[in-house]
Amino acid sequence: MSDKKHFDVIIIGGSYSGLAAAMALGRALRKVLIIDSGKPCNRQTPYSHNFLTQDGKTPKEIATLAKQQVTMYDSVEFFNSLATKVSKTENGFEVQTSSGDIFKSKKLIFATGIKDEMPSIKGFSECWGISVLHCPYCHGYEVRNETTGIFGNGEYGFEFSKLISNWTKDLTLFTNGKSILTVEQSAILERHQIKIMEKEIAELEHINGQLQNIIFKDGSKKSVKAIYTRLPFEQHCPIPEQLGCELTEDGYIKIDDAHKTTINGIFASGDNVTRMRTVANAVSMGTTTGMMVNKELIEEKFTNKSK
Ligand SMILES: Cc1cc2nc3c(=O)[nH]c(=O)nc-3n(C[C@H](O)[C@H](O)[C@H](O)COP(=O)(O)OP(=O)(O)OC[C@H]3O[C@@H](n4cnc5c(N)ncnc54)[C@H](O)[C@@H]3O)c2cc1C
Repeated sequence: MSDKKHFDVIIIGGSYSGLAAAMALGRALRKVLIIDSGKPCNRQTPYSHNFLTQDGKTPKEIATLAKQQVTMYDSVEFFNSLATKVSKTENGFEVQTSSGDIFKSKKLIFATGIKDEMPSIKGFSECWGISVLHCPYCHGYEVRNETTGIFGNGEYGFEFSKLISNWTKDLTLFTNGKSILTVEQSAILERHQIKIMEKEIAELEHINGQLQNIIFKDGSKKSVKAIYTRLPFEQHCPIPEQLGCELTEDGYIKIDDAHKTTINGIFASGDNVTRMRTVANAVSMGTTTGMMVNKELIEEKFTNKSK
């Protein structure tokens, strides 16, 4: 194996969190490879908000500037590919990619994000990130005071309705079938003028992802400007689980305060470990993870565990 294929740290996932980890490690003089398949979760959203200094930029603009700044560090390389397999070696890990390359490193960081699972409602995935929104802090200001819906039910539908009522008074909870809210929850929403509609949804009628109407299975429709929802998800990358990294009950990779997973030498950062889903948080976690990985490498050197 040539030295060109040997790294201190391989970061799988080169979006906001992976790039932030790489910057901390590059500045710590570590030899780093970022492997990225180019599919960040926010790629369909036209503008990203609520990240200081970058408010209103496109997701791509933020990522491109980040990549430029990170790859200025001589010891950091960016490789466009999909990591397909990771094996443990005597001194670390071996990563295979879909391009057929094999790379080795002492430590691994997974900054691989999550994949949202779209319901099978016509038009839903086309509106995702444009007028079907995951977070009011990211996109709520732009649709403030508009006719807005929540796509949800039960405890989560109730809590999300309370939250979104801060941004608009014209709010309906669409339960897409029979409401499972308690009598008390329904009464609370009613007291706050939040409507509940149980009709089953057939389609989201839209123009280029901009929602026009919700079409119900009974043929009726309702004009709505934006919908919020929290979708079920899966880990974007199955490799951490294949390696034995434990997941939390909610499906996130389990980490400790130093961002270590339950497998030695493997760290994780960003959306794959937390519900707090913002670019700012992904960057913050990436920076911390990079620093923690560097600290572990230093500690190992001084306790002679590795060269
Ligand atoms: C629709 C939408 C809109 C959003 N809007 C905003 C907003 O306006 N403001 C805000 O602050 N936050 C927003 N967010 C949240 C924000 O986008 C995420 O918190 C952030 O992208 C998480 O960064 P990450 O690096 O952890 O993961 P991601 O950005 O999802 O990146 C993960 C990366 O890992 C790569 N990857 C995965 N598996 C592999 C593999 N096996 N090999 C190689 N690469 C791999 C992927 O291709 C991807 O590039 C939005 C999220 C969504 C879904």
